[in-house]
Amino acid sequence: MIVAGWRARLRWLAPSGGAAMVMVAALVRAPAHAGSESREALILSGGLTRADSDRPVERVFVVPPGTSQIDLDLTCAGTQHDACLDFGARGPGGIRGWSMAGHGHVHIDALSASYGYLPGAIEPGEWHVMLGAAPDHDEGERSYQVTIRLSDRPTGARPVLRSAPGWFAGDLHVHSGHSDGYHLDRLGHEVPVSVRDLNVDAGAAHLDFLAVTDHNTVSHWIDVDRAQATSPDLLLLHGREITTARGHFNAIGERRFTDFRLGPERPMRRLLADVAKDGAFLSVNHAWLSSDQWCAGCGWMDRDAETLQEVSGIEVLNGSTPVLAGELPGWTWWADLLNRGERLVAVGGSDVHDPIDGHAAIGRPSTVVWASALSEDAIVAGLKSGRVFVRAVPKEHSFVDLAATSDRITATMGQAISQGRLTLTAHLRGVAGQQCSWIRRGNVVQSSDVHADDQTLTLSTDAVPGDWFSVIVRRHGQPSLLSNAVYVQDERGVFAGR
Ligand SMILES: [Zn+2]
Ligand SMILES: [Zn+2]
Repeated sequence: MIVAGWRARLRWLAPSGGAAMVMVAALVRAPAHAGSESREALILSGGLTRADSDRPVERVFVVPPGTSQIDLDLTCAGTQHDACLDFGARGPGGIRGWSMAGHGHVHIDALSASYGYLPGAIEPGEWHVMLGAAPDHDEGERSYQVTIRLSDRPTGARPVLRSAPGWFAGDLHVHSGHSDGYHLDRLGHEVPVSVRDLNVDAGAAHLDFLAVTDHNTVSHWIDVDRAQATSPDLLLLHGREITTARGHFNAIGERRFTDFRLGPERPMRRLLADVAKDGAFLSVNHAWLSSDQWCAGCGWMDRDAETLQEVSGIEVLNGSTPVLAGELPGWTWWADLLNRGERLVAVGGSDVHDPIDGHAAIGRPSTVVWASALSEDAIVAGLKSGRVFVRAVPKEHSFVDLAATSDRITATMGQAISQGRLTLTAHLRGVAGQQCSWIRRGNVVQSSDVHADDQTLTLSTDAVPGDWFSVIVRRHGQPSLLSNAVYVQDERGVFAGR
């Protein structure tokens, strides 16, 4: 989105230095940076000579009120690399950063910024691009072009790592030292867990995405953005575990900081609605725990339908709360909610706080999502769709997909199908020797042994409105895969429980 009216208010000012500089200033359309929305761009062109090398040459551009992010791209004529000169940015409040030659793209917004730059509010007024000739520059003129993009979106474009659809596995719940993720170093001192530590472990666990969900703060997002720059195979999601005295919930894919505090005028359902405004996926965490001195607010208190309408998911497995004797208290609550007519996505998260010495491990459990791409927007949309399963045990290729077919109509996990005779199909991989249980309204209706590494099981049944079906795969009684639900709706297309 373009800042309203910014083009009309745009004006060009004379350079504040660089007498030898050739001024060619124009407002033109330029292609947006990869992965970002299309935006009009301002282009500053010119040339620098050795005479300009004593101090940076400054070019002015005007930032209108309401601007929330700036992207700058520097290129030079005749150079193979993106950048050719040192350059930086100066806002009304002071210098925001400086890049040495070779790094041609800079992003600045309120919460994040490229390496070498300070995040913070984008003040309206006169900003300057600062240009410094490289010291080894020869006698001739070096032509440059700076492309400036301004936007009123709350944060920058988020990367697309893979553009083809597929199943993507990730951990939706980990903590860094930006909240309470700490480990002991070699000297026995408590030191914060860095986003990079988490990143390395997630790669080793063969995950495609990782949500760093520190408690209440978003100070880790700048580390997430910077770690992403060196992580072409692992998508780092902007997450947060919003932590209150009445329960914890995860927000995945937030775009801005939203106050986490409850109050007399802000009950849980209002807080949830506020956080979800930008489209984040919200899931209730470890709802089965009790709230006590060890973990204040860990249990979920507001269990009314009005509040739960504001969330999309339920954490049915939490890696820091081991499954005892095959019990699934989180899954049982999820099943109870579906029985009363809620449609909620079952997810899992390791809740790792110490990936080095702690008892929880990244990716145990993981949440596997069918998504249109490996990008934050696509993963969030995939989570909301419900075509998702939980992999309790880290095993790269273990897989379950569930569908129901009736009269040539097929519903996948997260979707609803009309009542009547249904054929349920569970496609399983990597679980030979384990046992698959068919679930109807929370109860096991039939169990089958899985013999092959790639096997499709079917079950024919009559279904009535309010039914829902899922499968759980177990190994020696311990769950290894949990599917999401296919719902049965009435003739009006409503799933209302019963
Ligand atoms: Zn928690
Ligand atoms: Zn947590």
